Amino acid sequence: MRKRALVVGLGIAGMSAAIGLRQAGWTPVIIERAPERRTDGYFVGLMAEGRQAAVDLGIADHLHTRNPPDGGKAWSLTRRGDREPGVGFLHQPGDPAAVVRGDIEAALWRGIGGEATGEPVDVRFATTPVEIDDTGSDVRVLLADVGTGAQYRESFDLVVGADGLRSRVRRTVFGPHEDYMTTWDAMICVFPLREQVPSFAATDSIISARAGRAVWVFGFADRPPTVLLTYRTDDTRRQLAGSTIQRLRTVFSGMDDPAVRHTLTALEQTPEFLFDSVHQVKMPRWSSGRVALSGDAAWCPNLYSGMGATAALRGGSELGRALLEYPDDSDAALTVWESRLRPFITKHQRLARLKQQMFVPSSRPVEAVRSVVLRLACTARERRLATARARTSEGN
Ligand SMILES: Cc1cc2nc3c(=O)[nH]c(=O)nc-3n(C[C@H](O)[C@H](O)[C@H](O)COP(=O)(O)OP(=O)(O)OC[C@H]3O[C@@H](n4cnc5c(N)ncnc54)[C@H](O)[C@@H]3O)c2cc1C
Repeated sequence: MRKRALVVGLGIAGMSAAIGLRQAGWTPVIIERAPERRTDGYFVGLMAEGRQAAVDLGIADHLHTRNPPDGGKAWSLTRRGDREPGVGFLHQPGDPAAVVRGDIEAALWRGIGGEATGEPVDVRFATTPVEIDDTGSDVRVLLADVGTGAQYRESFDLVVGADGLRSRVRRTVFGPHEDYMTTWDAMICVFPLREQVPSFAATDSIISARAGRAVWVFGFADRPPTVLLTYRTDDTRRQLAGSTIQRLRTVFSGMDDPAVRHTLTALEQTPEFLFDSVHQVKMPRWSSGRVALSGDAAWCPNLYSGMGATAALRGGSELGRALLEYPDDSDAALTVWESRLRPFITKHQRLARLKQQMFVPSSRPVEAVRSVVLRLACTARERRLATARARTSEGN
């Protein structure tokens, strides 16, 4: 009989894990707390390892990417509000693929729909785990319908908690959030713009970064930009109380440039935004018996790393590979899975501190150093592009 796995969460990590499990010959069941699948979302740069995982999961052909030609133009706004050529997220080494989170989830959704295999995954919306009991020979899970409150029990050979940063599976099986979530003294607010910042091209990216606060506008080839407002604070709890727009107007007061003005006005009109504190999740081990965690639930490297979606995809594809190699030994499979992934995750969790300085410098001196570094990077990039253009025209 085929082994059954419960995957908690219909995000990138959950759907990747489900496809990986199916590739290994398992039957996954996904439960999702929300009543329906979410779409859209914020800018995500998908790195080479994530794109490879998409290939391994068989979803690469479904992935819609939105890179402007040549990575698009990025503008840095100075303290006086002037614009100068800058270096955007898409200009970093490795040529990230520009998507919104929903693009990756849409590709995975087609993957779990069973187009390739004719075997759609059983997805149950408005469902959450209430109790998880690993007996040693199976895992008995008490499931609840979020809408009606109705509860029922089911047994699985494995449970994968892919339920995000504040994972219920992690809290239930491994312990309280405080044991694993580190606080980064920073906040983010993200949302899609209806229109580009006036006087900029539709595909432009715009960065206005000052000590302790920054606005990033991410331009795409074929849709309006998305925005990231981020700032540092030593009291993240207090930030979440009261009106978000008032809070952000106070935080960004004195930063009077077109990007700040436009995005704060847009925030007042947007029907949906994400406003949250920034954390990393650090765990000594991502599985216990027959319960494993994947994605942000296990290792959230946070947005500054630019690696969470990539890691979530890899988590699922590597899980499938390990289970295929150890069909009769889940313990061995989970050990191998973790040993392959952990160096990658640790590296990117560490790098995130440095990258945070690029997103939002911690002080005036860092802001100044950052500007110099980015100006040099921008000049080097322009030279590279000019050389490539010259080579192309010589070849024609
Ligand atoms: C602003 C921002 C920018 C980012 N930029 C990048 C980037 O450029 N590159 C990159 O690689 N990554 C980026 N990331 C990170 C990336 O988006 C995340 O790491 C990734 O989406 C995490 O996926 P996940 O499936 O682990 O978790 P989630 O996306 O949080 O999904 C968890 C799912 O589980 C469900 N769920 C939660 N609790 C329960 C429950 N009790 N029962 C059932 N279901 C439940 C949720 O509803 C959700 O559907 C960024 C993140 C942010 C916030």
